[in-house]
Amino acid sequence: MAKHERGAVGMRLIHLALLAVLLTAAGSGSRGAVAQEGETAFPPHRVAGNLYYVGSQAQASYLVTTPEGHVLINSCFAETVPLIQASVKKLGFRFADVRVLLTSHAHNDHVAGSALVRRLTGAKVMVMEGDDEIVRTGGKADFQYSSTWEPCPVDRVLRDGDTVKLGGSTLVAHKTPGHTRGCTTWTMEVREGEKRLQAVIIGSPNVNPGYRLVGNTKYPTIAEDFARTFQVLKSLPCDLFLGAHGEYYGLTTKYERLQKEAGNPFIDPKGYWGYVRRKEKAFRGELARQKAE
Ligand SMILES: [Zn+2]
Repeated sequence: MAKHERGAVGMRLIHLALLAVLLTAAGSGSRGAVAQEGETAFPPHRVAGNLYYVGSQAQASYLVTTPEGHVLINSCFAETVPLIQASVKKLGFRFADVRVLLTSHAHNDHVAGSALVRRLTGAKVMVMEGDDEIVRTGGKADFQYSSTWEPCPVDRVLRDGDTVKLGGSTLVAHKTPGHTRGCTTWTMEVREGEKRLQAVIIGSPNVNPGYRLVGNTKYPTIAEDFARTFQVLKSLPCDLFLGAHGEYYGLTTKYERLQKEAGNPFIDPKGYWGYVRRKEKAFRGELARQKAE
């Protein structure tokens, strides 16, 4: 038991150290460590119905295919875009048919490639209010980080609860702020044979290292926003548990299971609830720690 616990703590420390390295790279404007991560391909696959995974190993990107063209969620780094293109092609779809580009949140690992995707496809770029200025300025309006990337025009600014409709599919934009001001959790109903499955793609519930929850002059409502986000996440019905990074929902393990099992490992409501609860606990703990300082 104790040995097992030490192992788990050790793994967590390694994970945190890795995360710190990645975040330092993202925050300093260096494209080194994070961009390398973004360049590692991951096998594209169908999640369920017309919803596909086309991201890299570290950066999640999703394709919703319709008879009227496709929706892409997350361009990731500019360096990731060729991998996404290759994944879309491998699945038998045309990248040029991407009509709409959506975003989990405006950090470089999700939106730095957006200007490139818009140029390559002519897709309409739609961004939640609060993140729109960050996309438009290529990172200059961020409250925490100084990294910048190619600015991208925003064709439509979304409000909480807005829908994006294309070819019979409807995606709903849930504003889940805190991680960024316009952080967005996307939901959609996916039809899998007779079944109707609720997909939830979490924007990010993470309080990054260095985030000030108390007395943050650049983002005074950050703590209230995070608290609201957890209320929203807890209110969403979820069958298919997905997120802005595969790591949120155990992509690698679930993809391996997908090869071996008859069922769909991405149907994981229990995993979703457990994840949201753990992240809320981490937020409450960090808030209490900062208040006590
Ligand atoms: Zn982020």
